[in-house]
Order: sequence, then structure tokens, then C-alpha cells
Amino acid sequence: MKKIATAAAIIAAAVLAVFIILDAATPKYNFDFFAMNTYVSGEVEGGKSDDIPQEVESIIGTLDTKILSRTAEGSFVYNLNKNGEAVPDAEVAAYFSLLAEVCRQSGGAFDFTLGAVSDLWNFGGTPSIPDSAELADALSHSGYEKISVADGKITLTDKSAVVDFGASGKGIALDSVKSFLDAQGAKRAVISVGGSVLLCGDGKFTVGIKNPFGGADYAARLTVNECCVSTSGSYEQYFEESGKRYHHILDPQTGYPAESGVISATVISESGLLSDALSTACFVLGIEKGFDLADEFGATVIFVTEGGEIHCKDGAEIKIDLDSEGFTLVTH
Ligand code: ADP
Ligand code: MG
Repeated sequence: MKKIATAAAIIAAAVLAVFIILDAATPKYNFDFFAMNTYVSGEVEGGKSDDIPQEVESIIGTLDTKILSRTAEGSFVYNLNKNGEAVPDAEVAAYFSLLAEVCRQSGGAFDFTLGAVSDLWNFGGTPSIPDSAELADALSHSGYEKISVADGKITLTDKSAVVDFGASGKGIALDSVKSFLDAQGAKRAVISVGGSVLLCGDGKFTVGIKNPFGGADYAARLTVNECCVSTSGSYEQYFEESGKRYHHILDPQTGYPAESGVISATVISESGLLSDALSTACFVLGIEKGFDLADEFGATVIFVTEGGEIHCKDGAEIKIDLDSEGFTLVTH
């Protein structure tokens, strides 16, 4: 029997509990829309423009269709995949070099050239287990070392490699929205793009880590300062076949769903790009290597295991309160 996570489950995973105290005197906006194949929701307080919701929607939509989407004809990534080379502007070049750094530092656990492998699993449509020969072939054309950035040009040294920003695009969107909100002088904002959340403003924010087992909504609460928080989990997009769960976060070494004993990895970073990319990488790497990788980038990671343990580093500048019974906190 196949069981496919529904859109409702994906929304539930994405919308974390955020508690925000708003000042009554300044303008406030609440909005939601669909972009980047996911739900976006926002609460913003303050800002110069009267069109903050529309502008946020346009920023995310434009980023996707002009740069990151590999299916939107004419986007930067579409052209790169089609022609094997493309000339980036400074911003796009910066995304590539930071992501390449995450690929390298994670030992390839994060790999933004896995597009052909992801396509075979087809989690965006009706997913199924790929033919093993096709999978091996797609995997042989993936590998972050097949992207070269030189002389102001990005080149795919293997023309069959398929660049995919699926694991980092939502975080990049948060960075773009943050720049806009800062320029607007917004006082406080909470923006969720799928499982990635921007918390912006002075003071503390409380964010829930979704309970991956269902039941109570949240496994734990984090108290954090302004930051980005992204969660990658195997409970978001998956199907089951012969009693086994197949999810959408892949181990680049095998081409199959990563099995590291964790059910979710939540990463907190100043950078949306890093929080998103590292949450995927840490999910693939598992607890010990994931802690080391997050450290390399000055980020914090919190894991939920299949057994209901919540693993975090001792002394993290983040307060964690268990929110539901059945979870135990393990500090390292
Ligand atoms: P979500 O998109 O659900 O928030 P992630 O940020 O973890 O979850 O990204 C998962 C997506 O990234 C997959 O759908 C696929 O497109 C791509 N992907 C899967 N495995 C990897 C990986 N090991 N490295 C980089 N990208 C990956
Ligand atoms: Mg990610």
C-alpha cells in the first residue's frame, strides 16, 4: 500500500508555532499565499510601504521564476541545466559558492546536483521506487564537484548533471525577504516558507519543533533571537511500500532516502540559505556529524530521532522546553 503525505500534512509541518507580541500602534499585516511549491505565511509589523504582503509575494515569486526554479523556462537554473553554463550576477554567484561550501564541508551529504535522481523518485508527483539501473545512471551524473565556478561563469563539467535548489531555495527566499524588510524598517516579522521560518526583530521569539509522530502539535519549543529556522524531516513527503517508508531527503552516496536514525533536523542560523541547506545536510549526516557540520557554519542543530529523543548541544544559546510527553531531551 502506498501512503503519500498530503498537502495538509505538508502545511502542518511547515507552520510552526510562533508567538509574537505586536505593538498596537503600528501597521500590521497578515498574509499567506502559495509559492515555490509550498505555502508561505507572514506576519509583519511596521514598514514604510502599504503593499508589504504584495511585495513579499513578488520578491519570492520573482526569485523562483527568474533564478532558482529548474522548471520555470528561462530561469537562471533552468538555463544552466539546459546549456551547461550560465553567467551569474554577484548575488547568484554568492549562492553557488556558499552552497558549494556546504557540499564540501558535509562531505557530499548535501549535494545540489541531485536533480536527476530526485526526478526519478518524483516526490513532486506520484512517487515510486526508481529502477535501479536508471538510478545508478542518474547518480553517476550527479556530484557537486561537477560544478565549476570560474571566470565569472558557472559551468557543469558533466552536461547531464541537474542543479536543484530544492533543499535551499526556501531559505534563500527568507534572506531576500529579510533584506527587503530591513530596508522597509519593519519592526517585527515572522515569515514561513514551507519548513523554513524567518524571525525578524528585537526580543525573543518562540518557535515550535513540529511533532513528527502526529498527536500533539509540537515536540519542543525553542526560545530564540532574530534568526532563520529550517526543519527537514522524513515525515513531510513520503510514501510507503511493503511496510517501508521512502522519503524525499536522499543520501547522495546511494541515491536512496537517507537513513541516519533521525526523523527531523532543525537548524538555526542567521542565514536562511544556511539554515535550509544545513537542515537537509544534517538530516543526511545524522547526529554526531551533523553537530560538527553545524559548528563549522556557526549554526545550531536540534535532532528528533525515530525513538522520540531530542538531541541538542549543551550550552546552546537557545532554550528548549519539551512540549509533549513521549519525548526526552538528550544534551551532548
Ligand atoms: P523541504 O524541501 O521539504 O523543505 P529540504 O529542504 O530538506 O526539504 O529539501 C529536500 C529537497 O531537496 C528534495 O525534495 C530534493 O529536491 C532535494 N534534495 C534531496 N536530498 C538532497 C541532498 N542530500 N542534498 C541536496 N538536496 C537534496
Ligand atoms: Mg533544506
